[in-house]
Amino acid sequence: MPERRRAYLDWNATARVRPEVVAAMVEAMAVPGNPSSIHREGRAARSLVEAARRRLAERLAVASDRLIFTSGGTEANHLALLGFPGPRLVSTIEHPSVLAADSEAARVPVDVEGRLDLAAFARLLAERRPAIASVMLANNETGVIQPVVEAGQLAHAVGCLLHVDAVQAFGKLPFTLPDLGADLLTVSAHKLGGPPGVGALVLREGLDPIPLQRGGGQEQRRRAGTENLPGIVGFAAASGIETDWHRIRALRDRLEAGARAVRPDAVVAGAAADRLPNTTCLLTPGLDASTQLMALDLAGVAVSSGSACFSGKVGPSHVLAAMGIPPERARCAIRISLGWATEDADIDLFLAAYAALPHRRGVTET
Ligand code: PLP
Repeated sequence: MPERRRAYLDWNATARVRPEVVAAMVEAMAVPGNPSSIHREGRAARSLVEAARRRLAERLAVASDRLIFTSGGTEANHLALLGFPGPRLVSTIEHPSVLAADSEAARVPVDVEGRLDLAAFARLLAERRPAIASVMLANNETGVIQPVVEAGQLAHAVGCLLHVDAVQAFGKLPFTLPDLGADLLTVSAHKLGGPPGVGALVLREGLDPIPLQRGGGQEQRRRAGTENLPGIVGFAAASGIETDWHRIRALRDRLEAGARAVRPDAVVAGAAADRLPNTTCLLTPGLDASTQLMALDLAGVAVSSGSACFSGKVGPSHVLAAMGIPPERARCAIRISLGWATEDADIDLFLAAYAALPHRRGVTET
């Protein structure tokens, strides 16, 4: 019997790998050399790594030596924050990999739509005199786009570096490092159709972090460890493929309108802010996220609750809490995220499954 259609709507957790990426990676895996070896095989591997570096660096408008390959967004965020000693400032809605890099960092609040509070940011810059501030470009749970250009201007006025975690935005929004006015930028391959386990920290001219891991001299002694050749090749291949985000935005808008038609009390978090074209954080009062997740999964729909890294455990979202959403409402939030292979049929399947969810179960509304 053919398997029933499933709608994968959890692209912010990880995107489906592009077939072209798989092909490029398979080819790279056939190269036997270590990029640090000086024989012909090693040189062939090195030239693949450097071609990928050039392609990604060009896309972000930096010189190739400004891009350090890492094992993903988490490591790049750690390298960015821990690589520059001194007091740090982060937004309250950063990914756990930023928050955990320095649990002592001062936290900047956001408004009810989930946008960085620039006045509070300016105040904390003046009070704390941080060496580095970290503000994400787009939030992974709500998709809300942050005012990083303004944040950079405020930070630079007091001699503070700005790091931007662009993991969710890369490939979904057009930008370069100079456009954002950022000093450091984190990107990760698996959110844009590349493989998991590879990312990069991009630095402006003249900046170099203190390495987190030492050993071999890879990445110009800034990050020891044999390069993930197939991953790096796949990352560059994924970055070169464009997605029609107008089409995805239209699908996302249809999903939101359809959900609110079924349940007029449902709310989209951050709806009044500029958001990524693919993300919806939907709060359905009276229905807790774990009930929704399980029922949707049984109906063939994959979504997540809150941050993907927590999708195994349904806990309260620090992002929604920072937006002032009370815990009993935040517990009713699911994240629906679309990507390059999402089709009308996926939205239809979601809407049918959502309409069939039980009314008011799991939590008591207050
Ligand atoms: N930053 C953001 C905003 C993310 O959404 C994620 C992953 O969900 C990360 C960082 C971590 O990236 P990686 O999974 O490549 O370690």
